[in-house]
Amino acid sequence: MTSTLKEKDSYQVLGVDISPYSIQEFYLLVEERLKDNRSTSPPLFVVTVNPEIAIHSIIDNDFKEVLKTSSINTADGVGISWAISYLYNEHIERITGSDSMELICTHAAKYSQSVYFFGAAPGIALQASAMLKKRINHLIVEGTYSPDKPDLKFEQLPIRVQYDLQKASVIFVALGAPSQEKWIHENLKNLPHCKLIIGIGGGLDFIAGRVKRAPVILQKSGLEWIYRLFLNPSRWRRMIKLPLFALNVMLLKPHMKSLEKPSLPEARGQL
Ligand code: UDP
Repeated sequence: MTSTLKEKDSYQVLGVDISPYSIQEFYLLVEERLKDNRSTSPPLFVVTVNPEIAIHSIIDNDFKEVLKTSSINTADGVGISWAISYLYNEHIERITGSDSMELICTHAAKYSQSVYFFGAAPGIALQASAMLKKRINHLIVEGTYSPDKPDLKFEQLPIRVQYDLQKASVIFVALGAPSQEKWIHENLKNLPHCKLIIGIGGGLDFIAGRVKRAPVILQKSGLEWIYRLFLNPSRWRRMIKLPLFALNVMLLKPHMKSLEKPSLPEARGQL
């Protein structure tokens, strides 16, 4: 079971809950969880939601259910923050998987919690781990592993990988959405020491330097997707979902029952 910090305290975008936390509040929650050594506290399962995820949840019922079991869904893509401003007239800060990796690792190191990097192409997780260990003092890396298939069952992983994953406090899963969220949902029961688990998409590729991050100005203006499309034109198929997302949001607005801003203090009270 994960701790759920959303439900009624969330914005709704195409049926997906988006937690109303600012970046600062998000890291506060992360820190609270990492310094808490009670083994009974449920893990934080974080999903960083982009328009592709929201659209995919409409056509994939299993994925929709998985998104209901997560603890926090952050607004990753600029499309999600646009939708919240369009639907609720509210500004929400973006919290992306790639950006949050380094800060989560810093908190993990501060509280002597170990991390595990699972996913990405062979060698990438190891390279990213070496880079992070260089940048963050006392970072404890339990291990890295790139599975051949994104839907590999826990029992099919090498014994050493199973053992190290079971010891890790923080697990970064880089299998791309929706595979990474489904993997987390399926395998959380096998991870007794996990305090925080998050799907990070191409986060390890960025840290390892395999994929160049867009200039900060593009990141801040929400145009990073154009840069990634320029570097990897085959992403155009995925980009088609963006206008589809915008159209769905606009069409659904008149049918939405409640467009009230969620109440953050209640969500905080659940900590
Ligand atoms: N990936 C993987 N196994 C797969 C499919 C993807 O390990 O079967 C990795 C891929 O190597 C990359 C990450 O998952 O590191 C997904 O990156 P993507 O650019 O799709 O994610 P985004 O950042 O766009 O969400």
